Amino acid sequence: MTKWNHETDTCSFGNINIGRVVDMEDSGFTASMLYPDSTPERIRSLSQRFGSQHIHPDTLDLYLSFHAYIIKTKNHIILVDACVGNGKKRPGRKMWTNRSGPFLDNLARHGVTPEDIDFVMCTHMHADHVGWNTKKVNGEWVPTFPNAQYLFAKREYKFWEERQAQSQDPIMYGSYADSILPVIKSGQAKLIGSNHEIATGINTEPAYGHTPGNIILNVGEASKTHAVICGDVMHHPVQLAHPEWSTCFCEDKQMSRKTRTQMLGRFSNSETFILPAHFQLPCYGPIERDGTGFRMKDGIGEQ
Ligand SMILES: [Zn+2]
Repeated sequence: MTKWNHETDTCSFGNINIGRVVDMEDSGFTASMLYPDSTPERIRSLSQRFGSQHIHPDTLDLYLSFHAYIIKTKNHIILVDACVGNGKKRPGRKMWTNRSGPFLDNLARHGVTPEDIDFVMCTHMHADHVGWNTKKVNGEWVPTFPNAQYLFAKREYKFWEERQAQSQDPIMYGSYADSILPVIKSGQAKLIGSNHEIATGINTEPAYGHTPGNIILNVGEASKTHAVICGDVMHHPVQLAHPEWSTCFCEDKQMSRKTRTQMLGRFSNSETFILPAHFQLPCYGPIERDGTGFRMKDGIGEQ
C-alpha cells in the first residue's frame, strides 16, 4: 500500500508526486476558540488519542501546520495554497506579521524553484492561503512565481471583491490588497469555474462552506482518486472524530459541516489520500469510518 514518506514529506502515485511545503508548524490555537462546539473534557480525551504532536497534553491547545502542496506530473508543476508569506503586515495576527520563514528553501528541497511553477491554485482566499502569491520587490508586491498562471475560483474572488468594495478598511488582514490584487494586476490570474480541469486527472471541485467559493483538488482519474487536497474543509485531526465541528473561521458553519461530512464519507474506506492544509505530521493517508466519525487507516486517531 502507498504510504506518505515522512523523510521526504512526499508521496508518489504512479508518475504523479505530491510533496508538502511547510511555511509554519506548531502554531497553537485554543480549542474552544477554534471549535466553539468542543468541550475541554472531549479535547482531553482526544489528546490521548492523537498525541502531543497534535494537542498539547496540559494546555490542550491544538497545533496547526501551515503548508502548501506541490504536485509534479510529467508535464506540470502545480502549487496548491500559498500559506502565510514573508514580510506581510497582518494587524491583529502577530504570528503572521513580518515573517521571514523558510518556505522558498523548503520548496527548493523538493527540487523546485519559483520559476518552475506552472500553476498556483488557491483553495480559498483567506490570508493563510494566499501569502506566498506575492513577494516584495523594490517596495512593491509582485507575483512570487513569475511563470505561473494563478487559478482563483471566480465565485471566491467575486465574494471578496464585493466585501472589499463594501469596506473602508483592508479586508482579510490586508491580504486581499497585498496577495491577490497584485496577481490580478500582473495579468497572471485566471478566474476559473469551481469544476476546472488543470491538467489530465487533476480537477477542482466545489467544497463551499468554509468560504463561499472554497474549492478542493482531486488528483487521479475519475475511476481512482489518488488524493484529495482539501484545504480547510478540515483544520485539525479532531474533526475526523467530530466532523460536525466547524471552526470559528468558517463563513457558513452549517454548510462547512455538510461539505466535510460528505467528503469524508465519500472517500472513507478507499485508498484515497486525504491531504488537508493544516494537519501536522504524521497524519496523511486514507481514512475509514470509526463510529460516528472517521480515523486515519494507519491508526492515527484510533479509539
Ligand atoms: Zn487555513
